[in-house]
Amino acid sequence: MPSSNSKKTLISIIAGSVSDKEVYEKAEKVLKENNISYDLQIISAHRDPDKLKGKCGLCEFKLICSGCRARAYFQTGDYLEEEPFCSYQPKVAKVV
Ligand code: SF4
Repeated sequence: MPSSNSKKTLISIIAGSVSDKEVYEKAEKVLKENNISYDLQIISAHRDPDKLKGKCGLCEFKLICSGCRARAYFQTGDYLEEEPFCSYQPKVAKVV
């Protein structure tokens, strides 16, 4: 994680893809110029499906679906949590 210095991080830049590089580099430039500490996270559930939690982590479709990470974050504060509005029950998680 880049950081402008070792002070407590004040700003987190969260990007969904390296294709957002042009955008987050502008933010980094401003933060560096103003000596504001920050960190940068490039997050993608599709890149790290093994980190998914709950039923999405168990789901046989996680490589092609992964659920909506924004809804998971909104509901739980953790973008890796299970998709809260998915009605699908993964086969491995079904109660027999
Ligand atoms: S549980 Fe639902 S939202 Fe999550 S990966 Fe499976 S189909 Fe997608």
